[in-house]
Amino acid sequence: MTLAPLPPVERVRPGLWSVPVPIPNNPLRYVLVYVFETDGGLYLVDAGWNTDDAFEALAAGLGALGGSVTDVRGVMITHIHPDHYGLAGRVRERSGAWVALHPADAALIRDRYDEPEELLGRMSAAMLRYGAPPEEAEGLSKASMPVLAFVTTVKPDVLLEDGDKPELPGWDVQAIWTPGHSPGHLCFWEPRNRLMLTGDHVLPRITPNISFHPQSGDDPLGYFLASLDKLRPYDSDEVLPAHEHRFVGLTARLDELTEHHEHRFEEVLESIRQGDDTPWAVAGRMQWSRSWDRISGFMRRAAVSEAMAHIRALERRGLVRELPGEPVRYELVDG
Ligand SMILES: [Zn+2]
Ligand SMILES: [Zn+2]
Repeated sequence: MTLAPLPPVERVRPGLWSVPVPIPNNPLRYVLVYVFETDGGLYLVDAGWNTDDAFEALAAGLGALGGSVTDVRGVMITHIHPDHYGLAGRVRERSGAWVALHPADAALIRDRYDEPEELLGRMSAAMLRYGAPPEEAEGLSKASMPVLAFVTTVKPDVLLEDGDKPELPGWDVQAIWTPGHSPGHLCFWEPRNRLMLTGDHVLPRITPNISFHPQSGDDPLGYFLASLDKLRPYDSDEVLPAHEHRFVGLTARLDELTEHHEHRFEEVLESIRQGDDTPWAVAGRMQWSRSWDRISGFMRRAAVSEAMAHIRALERRGLVRELPGEPVRYELVDG
């Protein structure tokens, strides 16, 4: 298999760079680390996966713009997924930079990375409850274990709340809390150039995975849709996402993502109407990029969690309700 080359290191605006950092064995291929230059050093938005390749690519990228890892003073993490947060510890170790996260993601670190057994138990129980066959439930819950090797857990030095302005000399960047893809997801608004850094919240082509799971909070898709609306007031010239490529047209993309989920809601309602009423059965009826029997492991768990996120949002809208019993089943309200 030939892999397409990574995009180049690019100057986005004077003093602001985009550095692609490879993600191993992942169709997303790379995370885009954005680098702010200041008189006092470099400030990053996201870091990359914790692999030697990723670290070398980041170091080479910083070298291309005339700096080095030791010049980094701060790392703002959009969310704790390993492709964004994994490398933060190594960068801090080499540079003494602060690492910043939203408190809602900082609160998940211990369960997710330091003591995953309990979380795995809850995940397995949840899969059974959603209607997974018992022989599949345990395997599904363990599907993300290999990822743990790619994260060194660092506690954040700085907590960024909605509206906070991280220390970034000469720049005026503001954190915007956009929960959904992760409970503590942050976007960053740079008003002088009217740039919106969107992490995984808004990507130009793919739809971010919104999963209901033990760490997602009660209605992740509801939060996500509200977080899309939260970006509408910003009249941005260009969007700087963490994957794929930069693009123009934030509002149009917000519309598309909202529409995508409204269409998904229709699919879920139709599935329940037809009597496929557990989250497992609903996931099996939804359209995916390949047929259900070719989706396995982590992908299957993600699909069920995504179906469940839609069901939960519909529940909050008063359109479906839960029936008592295990596995959990749903019915349409009024019909
Ligand atoms: Zn993510
Ligand atoms: Zn990502």
